[in-house]
Amino acid sequence: MARQKDIAKIRNIGIMAHIDAGKTTTTERILFYSGYLHKIGEVDDGTAFMDSMDQERERGITIMSAATTTMWKDYQVNIIDTPGHVDFTAEVQRSLRVLDGAIALFCAVGGVEPQSETVWHQADEYKVPRIAHVNKMDRSGADFYRVLDMMRERLGANPLAIQIPIGAEDTYEGIIDLIEMKAIYFSQEDSGLTMEYEDIPESYLIKAEEYRSIMVEAIAERDDDLLGKYLDGEELSSEELKKVLRAAVLSRDVVPVTCGTSLKNSGVQPLMDAVIDYLPSPLEVVYQDGYDVDNIEKIISRKPDENEPFSALAFKVLTDPYMGKVTFARIYSGKLDLGQSVQNPGADKKEKVLKIFKMMSNRREEIKEASIGDIVAIPGLRFTKTGDTLCDIKHPILYEKIRFAEPVIKQSIEAKTLADQEKLISVLEKLSDEDPTFKYENDEDSGQLLIAGVGELHLEIIADRLNREFKVPTRLGKPQVAYRETVSSKVIHDAEFDREIAGKRQYGSVTVELYPEERGNGICFKNEVELKALDKEMQDALQNGAILGLQVGPQGYTMIDVGVRLISVKHDLEASTAMGYKIAISNAVREAAQKADPILLEPVFSLEVVSPEDYVGDIIADLNSRRGRVEGISQRGNMQVIHGVAPLSEMFGYVTKLRSVSQGRAIYTMVFSHYEPALKKEKF
Ligand code: GDP
Ligand code: MG
Repeated sequence: MARQKDIAKIRNIGIMAHIDAGKTTTTERILFYSGYLHKIGEVDDGTAFMDSMDQERERGITIMSAATTTMWKDYQVNIIDTPGHVDFTAEVQRSLRVLDGAIALFCAVGGVEPQSETVWHQADEYKVPRIAHVNKMDRSGADFYRVLDMMRERLGANPLAIQIPIGAEDTYEGIIDLIEMKAIYFSQEDSGLTMEYEDIPESYLIKAEEYRSIMVEAIAERDDDLLGKYLDGEELSSEELKKVLRAAVLSRDVVPVTCGTSLKNSGVQPLMDAVIDYLPSPLEVVYQDGYDVDNIEKIISRKPDENEPFSALAFKVLTDPYMGKVTFARIYSGKLDLGQSVQNPGADKKEKVLKIFKMMSNRREEIKEASIGDIVAIPGLRFTKTGDTLCDIKHPILYEKIRFAEPVIKQSIEAKTLADQEKLISVLEKLSDEDPTFKYENDEDSGQLLIAGVGELHLEIIADRLNREFKVPTRLGKPQVAYRETVSSKVIHDAEFDREIAGKRQYGSVTVELYPEERGNGICFKNEVELKALDKEMQDALQNGAILGLQVGPQGYTMIDVGVRLISVKHDLEASTAMGYKIAISNAVREAAQKADPILLEPVFSLEVVSPEDYVGDIIADLNSRRGRVEGISQRGNMQVIHGVAPLSEMFGYVTKLRSVSQGRAIYTMVFSHYEPALKKEKF
């Protein structure tokens, strides 16, 4: 029981923000005020702790999500740093999956940017309660109230100011807490550590009263008791207001809004108080269900209770120069003890937990046990990849895998020196363990090594890490679209294999049918041969052989959405072998694919361009020339939003073109949508 009470004092949060909104700067302040850092690190001079990777510091953007634990008052706050760039939506989704609440950080000048919209809607999908914080109140052009409007208009959110700023731009001084009706100033002598609570300045009394009534009314109408008191003209206590507001945030009806300027050390502590006051503990979250390992149709769930069987989700795997491979996991139920063996049902493997760490920013603390709500780092797990479930061996559960973006851009890569080529492959393997949207492969035709990712920036950053972090300088080819292949007709084909390999006769003979599968189904294999003599090993060999044979299609691209039906085999009791079957079926499907009218598929992206009205005509004309299709135009504030789809192969360099067409005023976002038959048939 005592432990359950502790769990109520955990907050698992993420900070969602558009690049440059000030996430790193704010996180640094949080760590400083909670006493974990003795000196504030700054993004601008490259000393921020959260941006632990070199190139992040250089680029000043946060790519990988690092998890950090800190104490705020007597609450344990786990901060999962979510990446802001839209190229990294897989990482954003992964972190949204494991956090319970979020701070949505907005720049007081830029407000709601298109990329924050994408992340906001993803957070809606994952049912994440949020508070919003308007940062950079000191910047020229800062406007707290405009950001409130933008949240309403662009996000369809229901923001509720629980603070208002005193001044703005270079006259910004501090904040007014509308619940306590106090002005709060942050001492500039000790980096904002000391807060002074004062009466609301005369010139702000009317505004504070106005926004206090808006707030009180919005809260009171959610609770009959409170509403009665309010209508009777009774004063509502801070506790009453906070309690009802908390419930409204947890049900995601309201987004409380705070403000400040992290760079000038103002507003961060009240923001953290709001995290404690309004964001959920692990006990208050409705978790996504899991599945029965043996029957994926059957839904099972675990309660956030220590007496339930252990279950956790591995949301990040990374390679640390000192600890080797480290798995970050969020515990959903039960307890994890040092030395415990756990099941990874996805990989069908057991893993032993030999060490458990808690990450306190860049310091790690070794712990002996962990439980619900904890974010732990486990070194040495051998089979676990990002997105895998870890659970009690006797009570397996499979949490839904996170759907990751498709790697749709490819580039050839080679080490600058021959000596590094082998090292390059081993590093690429590590990186693909860390990042499920990153893949590498050997192109059989050209003998080149290819890397594939979700966007141009994604691969650029991988190459950067290779160079800096792993000391393998590389040369990259031009980015190319990752085409796929499929078949468009049905074909029946047979193949026989009969050869002596290493002194043993290997024989197999099969007849297969190849047919187009529905889009999105991948490769499907049906074995319709009912023959006792086909043992388990042979059956597995047949399935693996069929998949192997379809890995590369007639035109050299990965095949998708193809069905294989094994119709018959010529079984020879003396001669048939598993290896013989594997090679025979693999040849059969490869040859069949050539006869089944193979077609090339290309990745198509959905696209949103936000532009002033004047440029809409030119933007659409340009999209049409790129084989794009406009699906609709809507109004957003004083901007037009063009929604459409376009093949990725036509969109390289779009950023430059859009800039010139719109004199730099239009912006766009693009995400993978689906594959479509490609126009171009030639391989490039
Ligand atoms: P992130 O990309 O969201 O992590 O943003 P950073 O924390 O790296 O900040 C981006 C830039 O904005 C840096 O140059 C910061 O110094 C600056 N910045 C952050 N917070 C503030 C603020 O409150 N006011 C002003 N004027 N600049 C800020
Ligand atoms: Mg950052």
